[in-house]
Amino acid sequence: MAISRRLLTQALLTLPLTAQVHAGSISGLPSAYEKLRAALKGAAFLPGDPDYAAARRGIGSTPVDSKMPAIVVQPDGPEDIARALELAKKYALEVAVRSGGHDLIGLSTCDGGLLIDLTRMNQVAVNPQKRLARVQTGARAAKVTIEADRHGLVPILGMDPNVGVGGLTLGGGLGWFCGRYGATVDNLVEVEMVTADGKLMRASAVENPDLFWGLRGGGGNFGVATQFTYQLLPQDKVLAGTIAFQGDVTKFLRFYRDFIGSGPDALDTAGTIVCGESTTLMITVCWSGDLVEGEKVLRSLKTFSTPVADSIAVCSFESFVNRDVLGLSKLENMFWRGGALNGLNDQAIAAIASLVDRKPPPGCGIGILHHMHGVLCTGDKNATPFLREEGHVLYNLLTLWHGAVSPTEQVAWVKGAYEEMRKVASRQTYVNYLSEQGETAVRDAYGAHYDKLCKLKRAYDPTNLFHGNRNLRV
Ligand SMILES: Cc1cc2nc3c(=O)[nH]c(=O)nc-3n(C[C@H](O)[C@H](O)[C@H](O)COP(=O)(O)OP(=O)(O)OC[C@H]3O[C@@H](n4cnc5c(N)ncnc54)[C@H](O)[C@@H]3O)c2cc1C
Repeated sequence: MAISRRLLTQALLTLPLTAQVHAGSISGLPSAYEKLRAALKGAAFLPGDPDYAAARRGIGSTPVDSKMPAIVVQPDGPEDIARALELAKKYALEVAVRSGGHDLIGLSTCDGGLLIDLTRMNQVAVNPQKRLARVQTGARAAKVTIEADRHGLVPILGMDPNVGVGGLTLGGGLGWFCGRYGATVDNLVEVEMVTADGKLMRASAVENPDLFWGLRGGGGNFGVATQFTYQLLPQDKVLAGTIAFQGDVTKFLRFYRDFIGSGPDALDTAGTIVCGESTTLMITVCWSGDLVEGEKVLRSLKTFSTPVADSIAVCSFESFVNRDVLGLSKLENMFWRGGALNGLNDQAIAAIASLVDRKPPPGCGIGILHHMHGVLCTGDKNATPFLREEGHVLYNLLTLWHGAVSPTEQVAWVKGAYEEMRKVASRQTYVNYLSEQGETAVRDAYGAHYDKLCKLKRAYDPTNLFHGNRNLRV
């Protein structure tokens, strides 16, 4: 019986790592890799190349993983991507696409296949007159914010400056302006992408509008996005920073619930519980409205108790966000699980408080991020596949560390805490925080939009070449 290339590739993937990276033993592959490398404007890295280890790992901060792509291509443009995809299809290679490498469950890499790493495609061009930014998808949010700030403008991206615009945007994008300006996808004007058959396509409200709809939340399911055009917003100074307390977790979470519940659209927040010898309770705020009104709104924060630290001040949005206020880039590795809550109800508060009471190991934290409110939740709910439920908040459980050895106790805590939180969590989760990839979880994340997304998937990627994502089953 003839063995198909796909079966052979799958069989190779079950071999030990050293054997996997030599998946090039499939007849003709080594020379095909070399031909591809020679044809690229960008670069390609094979196991054994001095820079392979760095290229494989990328510069994201998700868990150190052991995955070993057979080839890492760093394209210089859409033509390079089309060439790489052609080779992957010819040899039935697994395909993974990486922009910023922040996928929570490590989906943006693969074993024994082709990794398209968009690191080199990171140009940002701002047109201040039109208030538009054309951004290549390998850029980090920080770079876009810096370029926009030169013109007194802000992009609508995430809370963390290190996250790649690629995954962030394709999944929805929630940041410091949700209440005032909505999600990243609400401010996305155009997408350019390379399809599974190597074609460069443009999608916007007027060009391929069906595809544009799907790209505004449908993840990397439809192709390799190469460039986004974002609408930028004018923004004066913001009132932003972090206030920290020590005290009772239940009381803190109730206080936080009331604070965000009464907050105007100009207020976006993140609550963080840092576990350790003593628990630190933090609220990070970004007030983007009238500063005098903001002072009044934020003054109420001090009624919780005497703060142990307070950095809230008037500053430019760029200096606030690129300071990495949530401290997520301090350590190079992280293990994160999370999802959504139907608000910070008593049940959710009790679950979080019980986790903290049982003393998590040091170096673990719990985040209550992205309160869904304001402009994010008004408007046509069917305009994008990204679901927003007024009052929902997202949570995460994480541990951060230096070095290659993951801390067993802390990782086990995150996993266990995630199982506990799932009991009180919503099944409908923002897809970029979805810590699972099973069909049911993805279906729940998209709700009523799932079937329409699958129809689009069948049209643009009928063989499911792009499945290293929260996958829409074809
Ligand atoms: C520390 C941290 C902070 C975060 N903060 C926020 C936040 O404030 N707001 C928020 O909304 N989310 C946040 N997230 C979640 C984040 O949006 C997602 O993890 C997102 O997918 C990361 O994008 P990336 O390009 O860095 O990731 P990658 O790991 O590169 O990619 C993630 C997924 O998108 C696919 N993909 C990436 N680029 C492309 C492309 N160009 N074309 C096709 N497919 C592509 C990948 O294949 C993969 O499936 C955070 C995550 C982390 C780890």
